[in-house]
Amino acid sequence: MNLLEQKLACYTEPQRAQAAGIYPYFRKIESDQDTEVLIDGKKVLMFGSNAYLGLTNHPEVKAAAIAAVEKYGTGCAGSRFLNGTLDSHLELEKRLAAFAGKEDAIIFSTGFQVNLGVISCLLGREDYIIWDALDHASIIEGIRLSPAKSLRYKHNDMEALERRLKQCEDGKIKLIVVDGVFSMEGDLCKLPEIIKLAEKYGASVMVDEAHGFGVLGDHGRGVCNHFGLTDKVDLIMGTFSKSFASIGGFIAGSKTTINYIRHHARSYIFSASCTPAATAAASKALDIMLREPERVQALQEKTQYCLERFRSLGFEIGNTSTPIIPLFVRDNEKTFRVTAALFHEGVFVNPVVAPAVAPEDTLIRFSLMATHTYEQLDRAIDTLHKVFIELNIPLHAKA
Ligand code: PMP
Repeated sequence: MNLLEQKLACYTEPQRAQAAGIYPYFRKIESDQDTEVLIDGKKVLMFGSNAYLGLTNHPEVKAAAIAAVEKYGTGCAGSRFLNGTLDSHLELEKRLAAFAGKEDAIIFSTGFQVNLGVISCLLGREDYIIWDALDHASIIEGIRLSPAKSLRYKHNDMEALERRLKQCEDGKIKLIVVDGVFSMEGDLCKLPEIIKLAEKYGASVMVDEAHGFGVLGDHGRGVCNHFGLTDKVDLIMGTFSKSFASIGGFIAGSKTTINYIRHHARSYIFSASCTPAATAAASKALDIMLREPERVQALQEKTQYCLERFRSLGFEIGNTSTPIIPLFVRDNEKTFRVTAALFHEGVFVNPVVAPAVAPEDTLIRFSLMATHTYEQLDRAIDTLHKVFIELNIPLHAKA
């Protein structure tokens, strides 16, 4: 065994969880992806998807993707910069800019690439990126690649944010980057306070709306719209991998900013463009979102229903007000055990353990779709309650 193999052979955590029958990852779905899916020949309720509007299986979205393959072929075989720009990319960019309430937008091949490319290309070594401790991994990777100074502040703690802003040297660029809806705990960023502080200290603001679009705001226009603060936010990021039922992502901002990003973001310039099918699916999902606001409303009503039910059963669910509902377990192995037991009982949920969150913050991430029926919601919640009790997990597992 060479040195590399020797080092990697020490990594045996997955095998240990597999041997204990509680390994929760890479479960293979064998059916269409609706509120119920087939895994190992067994039907399970899907409460792990981010397709909040339930459009992944929508006949019009599928037909749009198929038609795009027929028209353009399967891939672009080049970056947007060179031979990979289609008229459908440009059309969707215009619509996304309008949807986000900004002058211009560009589409990347994934949301991860948006955060990576945008955040890493904007600032110099004299400047500052100030970010929330619970920001998504793709934001953190973008910050790692940036030459700017990185200043993290405690999650949603506005005094900590102000202390960070005070720490910055005058005359340098300060960019605050936050998730609009935090991806693991479902709580909102405190955008009104963030904007006030940004104005006081002359900082720019970027909001990741991965979990905001389709979920909050007028016709699902996101968290910035929900707070009526779109005009005060400099950059708005979105992904197609959630409410848009596809894969890809975009950044929206002023013409000047987007022009700069278009020519500097390396994950945009040096990566093949969003596929024709993915672009068309996202575009059709946007049509449906604008045409059928009742979907966003149904999602919000079902969210309220679940939040009330979980709270009345005594579950600790933090500060969420969105379809992302965290059920805190606060122990890695127990989180795996709950996930496995729920799966056995026919409910698919995602475990969130260290290092995605601190070891004392591990949780079950329960996420809703507009298309879940109330009967499915009740069945899942009752099963969760039963499993937590059977496994002796305190519902109110306060840290
Ligand atoms: N930002 C946030 C907040 C996310 O949750 C995710 C995906 N989980 C991304 C960015 C990356 O998006 P994508 O899946 O399109 O790469």
